[in-house]
Amino acid sequence: MSDIASWVQHGVEMRRPLLVKEKLSQSEKIVIVGGGLSGMCNAFRIAQKRPQMKIILVEKSNRLGGVISTWSDGEWICDLAVNATRAHPAFWRLVEDLGLSQHFKPSRKTAQSRWVLLGHKKHRLSALTLFKIGPIRLLRALRKAKRGGESVAALLPHKPIADALTLGIVNTTSEHVDADFLMPSLTQFGPSPPLKRSSLKRRINASYPLFTPEKGSVASLEGGMESLTSALHKQLKSMDNVTLITGQMLESPQAAASQFDVPLESVLWTAPVVEENRTLTKLSVFAVGFRNEDVAHIKHGYGTLIPDSSHPMSGILHESDLHHSKRAPDGHRLFRIMVPHSRWDGDERKIIDSIETNLSRKKPSLFQNLGVQTIPSYPPGYMQELSQKSIDCSYVGWGASGVSITHVVDEAERVAELF
Ligand SMILES: Cc1cc2nc3c(=O)[nH]c(=O)nc-3n(C[C@H](O)[C@H](O)[C@H](O)COP(=O)(O)OP(=O)(O)OC[C@H]3O[C@@H](n4cnc5c(N)ncnc54)[C@H](O)[C@@H]3O)c2cc1C
Repeated sequence: MSDIASWVQHGVEMRRPLLVKEKLSQSEKIVIVGGGLSGMCNAFRIAQKRPQMKIILVEKSNRLGGVISTWSDGEWICDLAVNATRAHPAFWRLVEDLGLSQHFKPSRKTAQSRWVLLGHKKHRLSALTLFKIGPIRLLRALRKAKRGGESVAALLPHKPIADALTLGIVNTTSEHVDADFLMPSLTQFGPSPPLKRSSLKRRINASYPLFTPEKGSVASLEGGMESLTSALHKQLKSMDNVTLITGQMLESPQAAASQFDVPLESVLWTAPVVEENRTLTKLSVFAVGFRNEDVAHIKHGYGTLIPDSSHPMSGILHESDLHHSKRAPDGHRLFRIMVPHSRWDGDERKIIDSIETNLSRKKPSLFQNLGVQTIPSYPPGYMQELSQKSIDCSYVGWGASGVSITHVVDEAERVAELF
């Protein structure tokens, strides 16, 4: 594929290194470790491209989908991890290929506003946020960040806003997060596009199947994000060359190679990678529902990020405002609350107090602890190290070079192109 065609296909993902062994595509049989979105997408895209190749996908738990899971109780529907996707044609292509087009819709226009709680005041994120950060300081920091290896705190010289952003994406504060990893276009990490940004954007926009997303919008699936992993699971079960094994943990790529009698180059590791300098962080997710009249003072929007660690919650997402499909019974609104364990001791009373302060003093119609999620870490310098790393097998997924589902889905297309 030409350089321009690759950039139109994958966009800014082209800046991220692909940690794939050259010999993977020459394998007779490959073993994919991890049955999250990444493992499933890689199995699907490779199996489509090479119907004769034997693909074994091994997952340690008894279900596929990884961190993606949707909770429901009657008409309340809430995702435990990702709830919507940012714009990327690879995700739109996947939705179309899985026959989910009818169930995939842009988010509501009334839900575009995002706020950051600064002190006791909500600041709406907009072009004016630049003035809060300080345009000159920002320009200087951007210039410095292009050397690479900096933290997000160094790139965005306004600690609360930088923290809000990183807490919202990777559950930790900005000094612990690699700027090249989170914003490779801003730091100009990796290769640059072979054509002007505006012209690339035009071509990418013209490549979307289904519908072209509007600037700043997200899109989601009826029934929550688990609709996607369920459709992928169904598709994989119907493919003759794919074997799905659940309930089996593989200790290492070497163990996978030896158990399934393949060379190490034939192993694709999609499970999170645990290394000495990469601590995992945890957060609890709560679903909270109110009657409309009890939260009428809360503007419709996407949600609020809360960098101040005196609050146990780091973010409130307005689930029923955002999605086109229904997430709450008539006359009610659903909010999802993210609680990093770095600021919470497990006492639910503190969450209830914080809900009273930040949402409503009225009794909620729903208060549900949905469970704990574990997030990989990406410390400053992470991407520089990654691009110089020598690898024993192939590594993909959010444990490798990108955190979002658009990264994970697009990366599977990039991997399959090598076959
Ligand atoms: C709370 C939360 C909110 C999020 N919000 C967003 C968002 O708004 N937008 C966005 O784009 N992304 C978001 N994400 C990230 C998104 O969910 C991930 O990018 C994506 O789901 C990662 O998929 P994966 O397959 O790489 O990893 P995982 O889902 O972690 O899958 C890895 C799989 O490997 C299995 N496994 C682990 N070790 C082994 C082993 N040794 N042997 C066999 N199997 C093993 C695990 O059980 C798991 O099923 C969010 C994530 C969380 C947790």
